[in-house]
Amino acid sequence: MSFSTAEKNFICSVCGKESLHTVITETDPPAGVPDIDLRPAGAPRKYMKYQVMECPHCGYCNSALNIPFYPDKKYLDSEEYRSCTGILTANTDAQRLIKKALVLAGNHSYKDAVKSWLSAAWLFDDDCDRPNAASCRRSAVRLMDDHPAAFKGDNNFKILMADLLRRSGEFERVIREYEGEAFRSQIMTAIAFFEVQLAAQGDDEAHRADEVPGVSAK
Ligand SMILES: [Zn+2]
Repeated sequence: MSFSTAEKNFICSVCGKESLHTVITETDPPAGVPDIDLRPAGAPRKYMKYQVMECPHCGYCNSALNIPFYPDKKYLDSEEYRSCTGILTANTDAQRLIKKALVLAGNHSYKDAVKSWLSAAWLFDDDCDRPNAASCRRSAVRLMDDHPAAFKGDNNFKILMADLLRRSGEFERVIREYEGEAFRSQIMTAIAFFEVQLAAQGDDEAHRADEVPGVSAK
């Protein structure tokens, strides 16, 4: 095991105040087969909460507090931000990841915002909180739908979208948009085929990459 952390001070780019945060200094490599939405197996699942810092003074959330926030700072006092878009949960790690997703979207970092929504969904998966997990995945899909130019030509996100849709119960859309879809990558074509199969069965569960027919993940 080589998982270690350190305490480090950060100056918040929004309010200018300092606070102490835990950062990861060393991690284990992923061990085992990831899920088809690329959620890693094993120990890295526990690192999620270190992907986000929250300023205790102004509530700013980002990967690191010294990263600037470009829109109007008043957004951090908005109902949308403070209430995590109305997602009610006692899971403070998930709340921070949702706020980070909102900040990243505000900074036009749409791909990273999708990843943060997905990370929040994984924490809700662990809590068996299906409504909030689905809600986070729908928010990720909405970002991709609203900003198509940011995702154009990126097949990693296109294939991720199939899983986000299926796991939030949008089975018909998965079938409509991915049936017969061929990617340059054979693995992606196989995953798309698998997603359509699962959607047709009304399956909204997590599946590992080595369950995809024709794919032997190591
Ligand atoms: Zn602050």
